[in-house]
Amino acid sequence: MFSYSKAPYRYIAKYKNGKWEEGYLSQDANVVLNESACVLQYAQCVFEGLKAYKTRDGRIVCFRPDCNASRMKDSAIRMAMPPYPEDKYLEAIDMVVRANREVIPPYGDGSSLYLRPFMIGTTPVLGVKPADEYEFRIFASPVGPYFDGKIKLRVCDFDRAAPNGTGNIKASLNYAMSLYAIADAHAQGYDENLYLDAATRRFLEETGGANIFFVTKEGSLVTPASGTILPSITRRSVLEVASKVFGMPVEERRISIDEIGGFEECGLCGTAAVISPVESIDDHGQIYRYFRERDFESSFSWKLRTYLTEVQRGERVGPEGWMSQPLSNEFESLCLPSGVCD
Ligand SMILES: *Cc1c(COP(=O)(O)O)cnc(C)c1O
Repeated sequence: MFSYSKAPYRYIAKYKNGKWEEGYLSQDANVVLNESACVLQYAQCVFEGLKAYKTRDGRIVCFRPDCNASRMKDSAIRMAMPPYPEDKYLEAIDMVVRANREVIPPYGDGSSLYLRPFMIGTTPVLGVKPADEYEFRIFASPVGPYFDGKIKLRVCDFDRAAPNGTGNIKASLNYAMSLYAIADAHAQGYDENLYLDAATRRFLEETGGANIFFVTKEGSLVTPASGTILPSITRRSVLEVASKVFGMPVEERRISIDEIGGFEECGLCGTAAVISPVESIDDHGQIYRYFRERDFESSFSWKLRTYLTEVQRGERVGPEGWMSQPLSNEFESLCLPSGVCD
């Protein structure tokens, strides 16, 4: 299950008088804020999500934490927030993982320790402007898989992100507007919403919290190109594995809603979703089904997922720099910036 379960320690750093103060660990899960804090009134909040895993031989590793650090910087800048320094970010991840090592789920059952870095504007504002002070925090929660089994999507009549909006950053506001839509999707028997581009409503974007990809009958991987989807680190990694390891042709291009019936496989990818198979997409009564000729376990999606999760769990050496330095039982260094994040 993917739900909040309080791990004992979280990291807190505060931004005051134009600079970030030294961060520290705390056992207090509550945030105390002024009623007019910018985050409460104007949703000045960005976040990240990554996982720490236990490996078979007892090490603890993180998957591409440097990519999260750099994406959070981009998100912060777009929300007029002071970015948290990337080297400090990696140190903070390290501290939180170490402090919570007792609650990292064991190797082999598909669970992990989810880490949620986030940043909020804390000072009171009433006229619309960014806050003067901020809090950067990372809390942890042991989690299981986000999706169980195959996913049913519906094409959503709401839009997720406008051109030149905030769809390409990890802003909480992108989720606020999706809550009504996801509650409605669940009530109608779907697992997630598939959003179209807001400008023309002809091209696929992504779901509320994961990117989407397709595989053709011949084994080409196709995924939407768009400036208004969240640049998923999982997707980036999947594309690289598909092309470099499996020699699959990879295309990042606009995907029209009219062509989705032509694909054999469809999957969602993200830290929470990992790679989850999509059983069907319902476009207003027109239902497209996937994994018809190949079931999931014999599909390209399955091969990609297996490879990726083996890398993440330290069973296989992946591309250079993908796994943060293994944290040994003596808890040496967990996160060394790898510098390979594009
Ligand atoms: C976080 C997120 C993803 C997945 O990104 P990863 O880096 O792979 O975890 C996809 N879409 C949205 C909207 C997201 O917020």
